[in-house]
Order: sequence, then C-alpha cells, then structure tokens
Amino acid sequence: MYGVALTDKQTLEYQQKTLPPLEHNEILLKVHAIGICGSDLRIFQHGDSRISLPRIIGHEIAGEVVELGSSISRFDIGDRVTLGAHIPCGVCVYCQKNQGHHCVKGHSMGYQVDGGFAEYVALPGTFVENGSIQKIAATTSYEQACLSEPFSCVLSGLQELQPEPGDTVVVYGAGAIGCMYIAALKRMGVAKVIVIQRSAPRRQKAIEAGADIVINPTSADTLQQVIKETNGQGADSIIITAPSPDAQNEALRLVKTTGSVLIFAGIKNQSSVPLNTNQIMYKQLRVIGTHGAPRASHVEAVKWIDQGLLDFDFFITHSFQLEETAKAFQTADSKEGLKCVVKPQE
Ligand SMILES: [Zn+2]
Ligand SMILES: [Zn+2]
Repeated sequence: MYGVALTDKQTLEYQQKTLPPLEHNEILLKVHAIGICGSDLRIFQHGDSRISLPRIIGHEIAGEVVELGSSISRFDIGDRVTLGAHIPCGVCVYCQKNQGHHCVKGHSMGYQVDGGFAEYVALPGTFVENGSIQKIAATTSYEQACLSEPFSCVLSGLQELQPEPGDTVVVYGAGAIGCMYIAALKRMGVAKVIVIQRSAPRRQKAIEAGADIVINPTSADTLQQVIKETNGQGADSIIITAPSPDAQNEALRLVKTTGSVLIFAGIKNQSSVPLNTNQIMYKQLRVIGTHGAPRASHVEAVKWIDQGLLDFDFFITHSFQLEETAKAFQTADSKEGLKCVVKPQE
C-alpha cells in the first residue's frame, strides 16, 4: 500500500509500504478520510518525544473495515467507522476510571504506531480492545466522520466548562476548533458568543459559524468591547483555543467574578506563563484545562455528526489526495481555511 511517512522534521514522503499480516486481535481499515490536526502540524515542524521516525502520523481517521483478526466478533467487513485517537492500556488508574485520554502510557494512533495518512491502517489489539471505534450512520460521509475526534475534544471541553443557556461566552481563535466551539455553543442555547480573532478570513468564518460578535484585537480594545457587551460584568465563561500567553492573561480580566476559563491550547516552546493569580483568587474564578477526550465524548461526537446537529461540512474547507499530503500540511499551516482533510482513496 501507499502511505505518507514523516521521515525527518518537515519532511513527508509518499512511499510504498508492506503491511505485516494481521494479528488475531487486530483490524485493518481502508482509510477514506483523515483530518490534519494542529498536533500533526506541531509534530511535522518540531517532532515529538513519543514518535520515532519514520512514522505515518495522523489520528483523525474514518474508514471501512476490510479485514478482521480471527478473534474479532464485534465488527463485520464493510463496517463504516470513525476512531478516537487514544490507545488506552485498559489497566492504569485512569483507564480504570474510563479516562483513557489520561492513560499513563500516553499511546495514540499515529504516535507509537502508524496512523492514517495512508491507504490502510492496522488497528492494534490494545486499540481494538480499549480505544474508541464507532460505527457511523449510512447518511454520514467519511469526511464528516473524521471530524469525530476533534469534535470529541470540543465536547469534552464543554463538559468540563458547563456553559448554560443564556450565558455570554468569549472564544479566542476561530480555527476549526474555535468554530466548532462557536457552533456547538449556539446549538446549546448560549445567548451570546463573542469571538476574538486577528485574521480577517477567520473572523468571517466565526460569523458563519454563528458568532454574535467578532472582535479584531489589533484594531479594537478587547476588554472594553467585552465589558460593553456584558453590561459591565464580563463574560460568564471564556474558551481559549489559540496558543497565546497574552490571551490567557487577558481572559482572567474579561471573565466575570465567579466565571470560568477553559484553556484548550498548549503554549509552544514555553514551559510557564506568568499569570495574575490574584484575579483567580479575588474573582473566585474556575480555571480549567482539557486535553484529548474520553470515549464517552467520542460516542457523543458521533451522535452529533450522525444526527446532523451542526453543519459539519462547514468545518472542512480543503480536501486533498494522498499524494498531496505535503501540500495539505502546507495549506493547514497557512491557516487560510479551517479543517484540511486527506482522502486516500481518491
Ligand atoms: Zn486531533
Ligand atoms: Zn491506561
């Protein structure tokens, strides 16, 4: 089969690869759609301590079951499925509590094992046993389905944040994740979503996703605007999807007393950010972080997609053939659209 391997930093090679025979507890998927995640771009640029090269990366996978190990009875050939990213060990303290996304082993598709930028991907036994493999509705496309992984992370964030109908929520960043937050918040009945975003095309996307107000922080006073839009109180909650220390500090000022701040984006190449912790204490704030998603959120994400609760096609702005994966990464990195998807069977 053909796959695209990361052979060195910033080097993707389209190459032929022979798959070893399937073990009794493994599944072979034909990959129909694979999304490019922000983490894929980070791995492409800087490498990752969990990955030894060469490696086929990619974890936002939707495909079709084409071969089953001899001991697998839960699936049939031809099943259309989408995957979670994590490979929980099943035995550690987190896995025992159904929090496989915090598994002490830290294994994920496309990290310690080959991922989805390929015609086929073999799902290891541990993944088949403990990971999330969800069948999708006949009416769901593979492109929509591959959004289940990033959207599960969004739902996991919302689960922790617990916004209420009638709230005003500020979202920093209107990339694919930011726009998923905006659309999901509106669908959940949040009264006002205010988006802070520098790039003009992404501000436009934020409006299309359902944002009520968009602020360009380079030309407007963000604090003043948010205060004005919230009758002087500040926002009920804030979601930060942009990797920015300044946004993290600003969020503590924009949020109302007793409000909540969700940090969803890691800070690149920086181990610590100075925060005004007095804001957290005197305003009695709840500052939380989420990363990845438990299987329950992935199951939920597939329901949202199958039932068409959001226009999931909206989040996909570019698609590419497998040979064009390097170009797809370039496009994703340029931030000119939202989600870039590779379709290896086209
Ligand atoms: Zn992802
Ligand atoms: Zn574990």
